[in-house]
Amino acid sequence: MLAPDAARPPPAVSGQGPQIVDRLGGAIDQTATTLVPELSTDDVPRSREWWARAAEATGTSWRALGELAMQAVANMQPCQTCVSTPCRNPSFCTSCREADRKRERRQQPDLPPGWDGMSIDVLWNALNDPRRRPPPQVTVDAIMVAVRARGVGALKEPETLARLKTCNAAAIAEIDRRLAKLGAKR
Ligand SMILES: [Zn+2]
Repeated sequence: MLAPDAARPPPAVSGQGPQIVDRLGGAIDQTATTLVPELSTDDVPRSREWWARAAEATGTSWRALGELAMQAVANMQPCQTCVSTPCRNPSFCTSCREADRKRERRQQPDLPPGWDGMSIDVLWNALNDPRRRPPPQVTVDAIMVAVRARGVGALKEPETLARLKTCNAAAIAEIDRRLAKLGAKR
């Protein structure tokens, strides 16, 4: 029997080493670059830097192992969507969560600030405040017709005041702009 470190003749046919077969009978691909060839060929002492480079190349550096561990921990959390550990279909579950977030954003139109601390009555009134919606153009037009007909004093008339109350900031700005064109002021 040859000593383990004795020189061996090259393989006769293929020019490749002996094939290694895994438990299920499939050939293990040894051409993968996960091995650093120098690691197994000799017993030459190596510097720390060499080992650091070798560890980086084989993905066994502390950093790479740490990343692997972090990923493993993340995979141990049950999926928020399918509640499986690990998630059974990460790309599908990610799409589901994204769709849910989009729907939530759609269902929450501009809620009044501090709405979650309001009583239901206050929130109801805030949500139904006519100033939340732009008034129809006819409201702005009616105010301007009154001003043209009866002067700026028309702005103090109860009917006009009631109309003004339903105006949001944009409508008030438009009225001011049209008043300025007439040389008048609110
Ligand atoms: Zn999932």
